[in-house]
Amino acid sequence: MSKVKKKVKVIKIDPDKCNGCRACEVICSSFHAVPKYSSNNPARSRMRLIRDPIKDIYLPVYAGEYVAAECMGRDKYVIGGKEYDECAFCRAACPSRDVFKDPDSGLPLKCDMCEDDPPQKEPLCVQWCLNDALIYEEREEDVEEEVKPGEMETGLKSLADKYGLQKLVDTVARMTQKS
Ligand code: SF4
Ligand code: SF4
Repeated sequence: MSKVKKKVKVIKIDPDKCNGCRACEVICSSFHAVPKYSSNNPARSRMRLIRDPIKDIYLPVYAGEYVAAECMGRDKYVIGGKEYDECAFCRAACPSRDVFKDPDSGLPLKCDMCEDDPPQKEPLCVQWCLNDALIYEEREEDVEEEVKPGEMETGLKSLADKYGLQKLVDTVARMTQKS
């Protein structure tokens, strides 16, 4: 496979600066509502705050890839005197927890860096974080050329994993007959 230059967009997260205000969840969920800004529901946000106020833990994490199987990661990490579950840092929509899944459909959610038309100056969660806990960065990397699945393909795969491919095919065939 040949290598290509790719612009990599990342959000650098500084949990020590996060105060748990959840503005990032509000703007992300309303920006991605259909129609845009018609509702806001943090459960639909692609940025989620792992929070435990008693332990002073506020850890923003943004959604990555959908994975069909849960992993073995159950370790604990102590950082700056605070204890975190390994899961807290994970960006995957996986079967072992409810984050990064649409609460109604159960379909996986993934951060798209707010790429839209017209383009945003910076991702909206970064713009709305007044504490600079989220910092947007871009860099160039040499990566192997690959075809990434689109949002619809990822959604269909998660439905097939959940209900079985045959049931999914039968349902689509039934819907097609009705229309
Ligand atoms: S907007 Fe910033 S300070 Fe507020 S919860 Fe999100 S990351 Fe934390
Ligand atoms: S970059 Fe955009 S899509 Fe990604 S978590 Fe932030 S607000 Fe949501």
